[in-house]
This record gives sequence, C-alpha cells and structure tokens, in this order.
Amino acid sequence: MRTPAHFDLLILGGGCAGLSLAMRLAESGYPGRVAIIEPRSVYVDDRSWCFWAPDQHPLAALVSRRWSRWRGSRWNRDVIERSAPGLSYQYVNSLDFYQHALEAIRGTDNIELKLDQKVVDVTREKDLFHIQTADSKLQARWVVDTRPPAPARLSESVLHQCFAGRVVSLAPESPGRFEPDAVELMTDMRRDEHGLQFSYVLPFARDRALVEVTRFCPAPVGARQLGAELDQLLARRGWKVGAVEREESAVLPMGLPQPDSEPMPGMVRAGTGGGALRPASGYGFQRIQRWAGACSQRLGAGFGPLAQPPDSTRQRFMDGLFLQVLRDQPERAPELFGRMFERVPGPVFVRFMSDRAGWSDSLRIISSLPWRPFLQTLGRRGRPGPARLA
Ligand SMILES: Cc1cc2nc3c(=O)[nH]c(=O)nc-3n(C[C@H](O)[C@H](O)[C@H](O)COP(=O)(O)OP(=O)(O)OC[C@H]3O[C@@H](n4cnc5c(N)ncnc54)[C@H](O)[C@@H]3O)c2cc1C
Repeated sequence: MRTPAHFDLLILGGGCAGLSLAMRLAESGYPGRVAIIEPRSVYVDDRSWCFWAPDQHPLAALVSRRWSRWRGSRWNRDVIERSAPGLSYQYVNSLDFYQHALEAIRGTDNIELKLDQKVVDVTREKDLFHIQTADSKLQARWVVDTRPPAPARLSESVLHQCFAGRVVSLAPESPGRFEPDAVELMTDMRRDEHGLQFSYVLPFARDRALVEVTRFCPAPVGARQLGAELDQLLARRGWKVGAVEREESAVLPMGLPQPDSEPMPGMVRAGTGGGALRPASGYGFQRIQRWAGACSQRLGAGFGPLAQPPDSTRQRFMDGLFLQVLRDQPERAPELFGRMFERVPGPVFVRFMSDRAGWSDSLRIISSLPWRPFLQTLGRRGRPGPARLA
C-alpha cells in the first residue's frame, strides 16, 4: 500500500481563491509544502473579473481594460453617467490571471498543482487531515477549502444573480455600435415575474464588447431563457453580431447564510463557499485578493490559515436588508437602483461597492432611497418567511 503524500497545506479548488492564495505563497517564498487540488484539466478564459481600483495595485499588470466612467438607469429609465476621480472600473481576463498564477507556482519547488483531481472526502485524525480524491490519498496539517457551495446551500441564498453573456464582434453592417468610453453597469432595468432584469456591457472597442443579461431573482433562471433574453437585447440595441468569441454564464448566490468558517480545527473555508461574494452585488474578486494576502501572511508567520473574514455588522445589515426588500418587493427594484444611480455621487457609490463605505457614505446611500419599503420589510421580520438581515 502506498503511503499518502504529506503536505503542510492543501488547497481544495484551484479557481480564483485557491490560485490567489497559492500565488501569494509563491511570491512570498513560503517554505511549506503545498498542493492545490483542482478537477479541471486545463484553464481557459471562463469569466471576466471587474472591480474599481486606482491605477496602481498589485495586479495592475493584468488589467487589460480600464474605464473611467460607468452608466446606470435612472428610475425614469434615462441613462445617467458617473465617475470617481482617481478610480477606474478595471477588467481582468480570467485566463491572464490563471496563467500569471500558474507561472508563479511553477517558479517554486514546494507548491504543486494537481489537475484532474476532485476531492471526494475530508477527514481529520490525530491532528492530520486525510484527503481522498478519486484516485489518491493525501495528508496535510492544514486545509483551505475553496470548493463551491453545495447546491443545497446555494438554494438558501436570499436571491440569485443569474447572468448570461457573450464577447461579441459586430458585423460590419451592424446598425448599432458600442460606445467604448463607458461601461454599462445596470441599464435597461425592468422587472417581470422572475425578478429584476438589466443589461451589463463592457465595451472593449466600437465593434467588440462583453454583453450580458443579468437577473436578481428568488429562483434561478435557466441558461436557455437568459440566452433568449440576450438575443433580444442585442436585437433591441441594433448590435448585429458577426462573431461570438466566448460565452459566460453563472448563478451566483446573493446573501448566502454565513458559513461555518472553520468546519474542523485547522481547516478554513474561503472563496464563494466561504462567503467571499458581496451579498448585495455578487462581486468577489477584490475580496478574495484581500483575503489571499492576509492568509498568506499568516501562514508565512507560522500560523494556520485564515478563513474569508465576515463583513462588518453594518455592511451585513445594510446588504441583508437591501436584498430582503428586493425579494419582498421586486416591483420596487428599478426604483431603488435608479434612485441610487441618480442621487449617490460616484466616489460614494464606488466606496460602497468596494467595501470601503464609512458611516457618512452609508447615510448617503440610505438617504438616497425611499424609506417605506425598508420599514415595511423591517416590520415583517417577526413574521414567517425569509427575513435574514445579517
Ligand atoms: C462568470 C463569472 C463572472 C464573474 N465576474 C465577476 C466580476 O466581474 N467581479 C467580481 O468581483 N466577481 C465576479 N465573479 C464572482 C467571483 O469573483 C468569481 O466567482 C470567483 O471565481 C470566485 O472564486 P472562487 O475561488 O470562490 O470560485 P472558483 O473560481 O469557481 O473556484 C472554485 C474551484 O473549485 C473547484 N472545485 C469544484 N469542486 C471541487 C472538488 N470536489 N474538489 C476540488 N476542487 C473543486 C472548481 O473546479 C474551481 O476551480 C464572477 C463569477 C462568475 C462565475
């Protein structure tokens, strides 16, 4: 019988969170033996990561496009444009990120990526973790679990963010063109029986963009329906597609109940399954980068790994209440987002979206919104039905 290979740290899942941590460990010269276990056999460009940031930051070299302005729909459906001095909305192509991380890992002799391996069981015995994959057994002192949440947990989220997008090049005869100076964050807002729907457009050039249809909905909407809605959006805007470069789609949890961050002593959760996605927006990339930096520092200092930290009580309450209002009163969703775009200055909006809102920013956001729906939802808290506010 073969003796299981022994590691100081095992990272379960080599997606954004797993690779971000491995990359930080590689860059910092972490001396321990590490393995990342990942089911995929090859990395492809499977998603686009966007976030607001200043020009200089540790991953600035990976940013392939920046926009200094963004657009959103007012309540009356007019489009409004906003900006925040010194900050831009930045786009990282996922394959560039994966390749950068893989290169950092390849430059070490103590961190290895095990592709084509799926974790099927994790147990702990005598201070050691025993990890079972389909065809091997591994042991480790510490475990960071970045596997996605199980479907049963996903269904407990307050809302789902469902989207389908295509990176398209327009046909030469296309009547409509993209406007490459500003992204469309939330335009064409409308509400139907499935919840809120809006468009999200990252224009890379006048004839090339990522165009997405997004929904915030209580129950996931199927990819086929979203695909049909995307066709309608392209037709409505006069964007005649010449070629589709790639497609992306997802169902992201919004307001997942806070997970048990350390399911066993020495094992922590991170990434989406650890609560990394911002409940009110589904953004997670920067939150994962901050966690990866802090976790790698802690491991470097000789301690065990760090779980994805929970949000502040204020942010949890605000996001939880906002999601609950969207769920209870979906007909108000275009008004709520429209008011926010209309009344909240660009810098405040960016700080709010980037987890950096202070008290005065929070008050500014609150005062931009009608109070009645929030009071109604707060009043319903004691009654049966979903009412998770923090
Ligand atoms: C299409 C898309 C676009 C997004 N756009 C943005 C954006 O613009 N901005 C933003 O901030 N956030 C965005 N997000 C949200 C978030 O940043 C990403 O979902 C991010 O990839 C989350 O990282 P993660 O490591 O938790 O999950 P993933 O990157 O999905 O990694 C999880 C890994 O676990 C692996 N795995 C699964 N099962 C097992 C198993 N049994 N054993 C071992 N490994 C396993 C998977 O193969 C995967 O590689 C987007 C998400 C998606 C899906």
